[in-house]
Formats: sequence, structure tokens, C-alpha cells
Amino acid sequence: MTWSNQKPPGLDDIFERHGSPHAIAGEAIAVVDEKAHLSLSKALRESDATSAALYVHIPFCPSRCLSCDHLTIIEHDHKAMDRYLAHLHDELALMSEQSRFPLQINRIHIGGGSPNYLDDVQLARLMASIQSAFDVAADADVSMEINPRRTSRSQLDLIKGLGVKHLNLEVRDVDANVQNELGRTQSFSLLEDVFSVARDMKFASVNMDLVFGLPGQTSRSMKNSVAMIAELAPDMLVCQQYTRRPQQFPHHAALDNDAMPSLGEKLAIFNAVVVGLENEGYDWIGLNAFVRPGHELSVAQAQGTLRYSALGYSEETVSQVLGAGLGSVSEVGDIVAQNFIDIDAWQIALNQNRLGTQVLIETSEFEIARRSVMRRLMCNSEVPVSSVKQPDVLTLVDSLENQGYTKKQNNVIYLTDLGRMALPHFWSDSSPRFRWL
Ligand code: SF4
Repeated sequence: MTWSNQKPPGLDDIFERHGSPHAIAGEAIAVVDEKAHLSLSKALRESDATSAALYVHIPFCPSRCLSCDHLTIIEHDHKAMDRYLAHLHDELALMSEQSRFPLQINRIHIGGGSPNYLDDVQLARLMASIQSAFDVAADADVSMEINPRRTSRSQLDLIKGLGVKHLNLEVRDVDANVQNELGRTQSFSLLEDVFSVARDMKFASVNMDLVFGLPGQTSRSMKNSVAMIAELAPDMLVCQQYTRRPQQFPHHAALDNDAMPSLGEKLAIFNAVVVGLENEGYDWIGLNAFVRPGHELSVAQAQGTLRYSALGYSEETVSQVLGAGLGSVSEVGDIVAQNFIDIDAWQIALNQNRLGTQVLIETSEFEIARRSVMRRLMCNSEVPVSSVKQPDVLTLVDSLENQGYTKKQNNVIYLTDLGRMALPHFWSDSSPRFRWL
């Protein structure tokens, strides 16, 4: 499974698909580039930034869920994980060396896979590699994705001691029937235990993901799931839509196609999420996140300072994002680049003392303007027409207006209620590979 085997569509294909909101989404503009690492190195050397956010990908999991659309390696050999961590150490050092100015890291997210599948020594080694490559700010926001089935009180204690402040629990759905369809066994009582331990330990926040469009899901099942989740009272839920893609993820073929909700059902399911969480007192942030009142993202949205980057929503502009590890995405200046998704290719690149970058997002003025408009619509629901300098992007926005997702008034493009409800189906994929905003 390598990205380079695919032929990404070009701009002609995008314009041919004007009728679809995908037309303005970035998934179609990724290009495999033999010299991608040079573009990212150049961007790092030329960047004026003195701070950055860091994403680190740990791909390992003990077993594969049938719906998995993350970049995951099923691994039981801890020596292979040690080798991965050694290459990660080199990659972090290389990114630091290539940066024009010494970088202070003020936000770190460790995602996966299941980062907490690493053993205690490996987790400590991972954090030491980050600390040795960069100056990590004392008040840096450090978050880690946690597989609830692989954690324990002692592990959470260690993770907290290593400086992790925010836990993002990988849940997908709490409905037992949906879990069965996914080949996962993650009982609600297990989740309750993990939440209660994490709350006892006073992590700054305990968050979770919620995926809609999974096999076996209905609006009724989601209504129940939301009620159960509200009992746990996570600080934030990020809600992403799921697409069965057996061509890209062969194990998806094992999911029952007849159990997949239709697009109409997905709309109803997402509606159940929105209504259910708002009734429980959550604020709807951007297109697809929900937070408790008073949360910094809620405040930022009210003040118009909510931003979106390769790391997701933030309360302020993230100057640049460095992505380390398999398939991770960096965003430096106008460059958006993704690392190899093939572990051998990634390790060979690092053995040759070069960044493990494989894919670039086009950096034309059109692409930069398109990305900016999407993100501003996502975060602030409005964009002044005069700020969109690219006529082709305005043409794309017209296609959204034709479908009722945006409207223009007094020279401002507004996201409509319909757009806010419908666009998460196209712009917030659960697979990082299809999320090129
Ligand atoms: S869905 Fe999550 S836990 Fe399951 S295999 Fe994928 S990354 Fe691992």
C-alpha cells in the first residue's frame, strides 16, 4: 500500500467535478514528488518561524480493526519498534538541523496507530528524542492518542510524568453493535474506567474521537451513543466521517457493505450528533468538533480567532507544523508535504540522511487561496470576497453556492446552516490520507 502507486487527479479532473464539494477539497491535488524532501528542506531553511507545532506518528497496533483507515502497522516485535524510534530520533534531529532558526515547540501531538502500544522505556525514549532535538516550551500543549484497550493506571501515570497533558481516546463509537461490525471489543465500562482514572490524575483534558458513517450505525444508535458519551463528559469530541475504501484499505472489504449507511443516513447520523451534543450543552466548533462551554476553542470561535492547520483546530495561528514519522504531514510556509507511507522507503530516506518526504501538495497561488478559503469557512463561517484574489477559487465557491452550502451577501461569502451540516461529509474524513485541508 503506497501512495505512489496511485495517480492523483489533476486540476482538469477537479474542474470536471465542479458539481461536488470535493471540488474544493484538497485531496485531489497531492502529487508524488521524487524531490519532495528538497522542497521541505528548502522551506525549513527559508522559514522565518522561531516556533512550531510537532506531529509525531507511531503506526503500531496490536491488531487491525476492520474499519481502520489510519496508517497502521500490526507489529509484535519490539525490536522493530525500537528501529522505528531510532529513525524517528534521526528525523527529528534532521528537521531541527535544517530549520533556519532554533525552533521552540509549543504544541505536540503524538498520534497513531496506538502510540501507547509502545512499552514504558520506548515511550520515555520517544519523549527524550523530541526533547533532544528541540527546545520544548515549558507550557507546551502535549497531547497523545490513547488506545483505551492498551492502557493502565501505571501507563497513564508514566505518560503524565513524561509531560503529556491531553489524552485523545480513540473510540470511534460506543455502540456495541457497531463495535462488533468493526471487529473491535471495547466495552463502555472499559472506557468509563479509563476516563475515571484519567480524571483522577488531573490531565488537562480528556478528549475523544467519534466517527459517523460506520457500518451498523443509525441515527437512533448514534442518539444513544451521544447520551452515553455525554455521561463521560469528554472535554472535546472530534467527529469525522467514515468511507469504506477497500481499494486503498483491503481489510475494509471484510466490512459488510449492506450494513454501511447511505449518504442520506449519514446526514441523519451527523444531525443526531449535533442535536444530541448541543442538547448536552456542548458548543459546535468549526465544522466537526464539539467542546464544553468555556473551552478555549469555543472562546476562539466566538472571537473569530479559531484556526485550522495540519494539526486540526487551534485557538491561534500555528506558524508551522513539522510532521515526523510514517505518513505524517508537515506544513511549512506554503509547503504541505507528507512523509512516505511505506516504512522501508521512509527508513531508507533517513539512512541516507534526508527527510522522509514523499508527497507534496501543490503550492500554486490557486492552491494556497483554495486552502485559505476552506479553512476560513470551516473556522469562521465567513470570508470577504475581496480577500479571495484567485478568480478560479471564486468559481469553486460558486459551485458550493449552487448547492446551497454557501451564500454571498454584501460581498461576504457565508457558510449556510446546510453547508455546516453537509460539508463535514466531504471535508472531515476520518482517514488522514484524505484530509488535505
Ligand atoms: S482503528 Fe485505531 S486501534 Fe484499530 S487498527 Fe486502526 S489505529 Fe489501531
